[in-house]
Amino acid sequence: MTAHNRRRTAEGPEIPWRGPAREGKAAQNLMGLNSLPAYDFHSPRVFVAGALAAGTETALGSASGHYLRNVLRLREGAEVLAFNGKDGEWLAVLSGTSKRSTLTMQKQTRPQTEARDLHYLFAPLKHERLDYMVQKAIEMGASRLQPVLTRHTQVKRVNVERMRANAIEAAEQCGVLNVADISEPMTLARAIAARKPDRLLVFCDEEAEVNNPIEALADARPSPTAMLPLTMSSPNELQSIAVLVGPEGGFAEDERAALMKLPNTVRLSLGPRILRADTAAVAALALVQAMLGDWR
Ligand code: SAH
Repeated sequence: MTAHNRRRTAEGPEIPWRGPAREGKAAQNLMGLNSLPAYDFHSPRVFVAGALAAGTETALGSASGHYLRNVLRLREGAEVLAFNGKDGEWLAVLSGTSKRSTLTMQKQTRPQTEARDLHYLFAPLKHERLDYMVQKAIEMGASRLQPVLTRHTQVKRVNVERMRANAIEAAEQCGVLNVADISEPMTLARAIAARKPDRLLVFCDEEAEVNNPIEALADARPSPTAMLPLTMSSPNELQSIAVLVGPEGGFAEDERAALMKLPNTVRLSLGPRILRADTAAVAALALVQAMLGDWR
């Protein structure tokens, strides 16, 4: 199954705690039940390429058109939400034929938010596990996905387009407004050489001494501005961060040594058990978001 063969069911995106999506309720559902930014969980949501503004008409790509028309069986006049990663989220009305569907923007439902500068660097995995890892990284708020080829990485070729499709699908399903950059693979040596030292590196190392990850990450918060070179972020600014997770074969000793020499790096243990790389992705991003990002 390709990423374009949406895994969503005819009832729409399955939101476990709220039940299946309903059609055409976009307008009524916009004011959520709680004080979090109003977010409509029920309306179908699609990524579109063009600019979005009131009255703009956007032709849908074939995958989105197929999903709305043939999977969800939406008719002309159905309301959907559209976003492009730049102009916020819009309530839109569907028109056209099933082969050539168009969305007309009605009104903005959420303004664009700024993406957190959180890079996720990872040794690529095979097929479905890579799909899963990409989706989870997007759900966890990564702003850039960078495949990194390490000594023990078994996958040498990465389908970047498939990664992009998975990233967009995850953003569509999970109300994410920012569309992450998906980068071409690079070797670990190049990633190390290209790294800017003011980007905190959270190096997830299966051989790190098991220590409290909360304390390790709290220590990595920027110290008072006076202590920092001008190029570094102030304590009130959100840090630029990169999280690195290795391949199923783990890091080689020389790779570990090179990573540990880098400045502004936290060598993070994710606990006493070895996690599979896709699990490590979610665990590490949750810890980093909790300590340095979303919940800070
Ligand atoms: N084959 C290796 C495990 C690699 S797990 C071994 O048996 O030792 C894949 C990647 O997930 C690791 O490179 C690391 O980045 C991350 N990871 C898994 N478990 C971890 C842990 N307990 N602490 C920190 N990172 C972990």
